[in-house]
Amino acid sequence: MRYIEPHGHMVSRTTDDYQDMVTAGCAAVCEPAFWAGFDRSSVDGFHDYFCQLTDYEPKRAAKFGLPHFAWLCINPKESEDVALATDVIGIIPKFLDRPNVLGIGEIGLNKNSRNEMKVLEMHVDLAARNDQLILVHTPHLEDKLKGTRLILDVLRSDKRIRPERCIIDHVEEHTIQLVLDAGFWAGMTLYPESKCSPARAVDMLDLYSHERIWMNSACDWGVSIPLAVPRTALEMKRRGWPTELIDKVIYRNPIQFLSQCPKFKLP
Ligand SMILES: [Zn+2]
Repeated sequence: MRYIEPHGHMVSRTTDDYQDMVTAGCAAVCEPAFWAGFDRSSVDGFHDYFCQLTDYEPKRAAKFGLPHFAWLCINPKESEDVALATDVIGIIPKFLDRPNVLGIGEIGLNKNSRNEMKVLEMHVDLAARNDQLILVHTPHLEDKLKGTRLILDVLRSDKRIRPERCIIDHVEEHTIQLVLDAGFWAGMTLYPESKCSPARAVDMLDLYSHERIWMNSACDWGVSIPLAVPRTALEMKRRGWPTELIDKVIYRNPIQFLSQCPKFKLP
């Protein structure tokens, strides 16, 4: 088996996780900027985090032979403080040329608040001005549908944004069609306790589409499984999916999307 982990918060994981992923066939990992589990108090905290994502973590991954890529932003959970978000967005351009940076993400909404909307628009503008790919986080809670609609409206109202260059992550049964119909890519996040189980993910693949879609583990500091993607591939196999099609969903699809950034290259 070979696969791409397109959304893993590796700074939270151990070296054992890296070894297990590579052993399972992981060919590259991509790490969006994320909430650390606590709010950072200053722009300097983000500066250090962006250095970690673009310098230290790729070196750690390389020790296990795994190419590591990153996405940069201030996470929606920390977007309530618009002044801080403005400062953080101000330092992102100087990191965009780093060799492992693929785009702006994971931006989006958490509680669908006005300040979050404002910061989302600032990020979309940053991506458009710098011709960057976009990775979007959708709310986990009961507001997912409303949040997804709001996010799609923001993206569609900016004429510089091309939907095929944006992935809307954490889709579920009630949002996947909305995202695909609007021409965006959709990401399914495989969590053991929330979001999407392997069985639900494969149900959605059976029901909707295997085009413009990827799966990720989003493995972070919470309850999550770094091997969720290959385990879901086993569920696909159990249901009789042809090897070729499994390979498309877990390997070739993410490569197709990510290769829109010329810096995404596998050795
Ligand atoms: Zn994430």
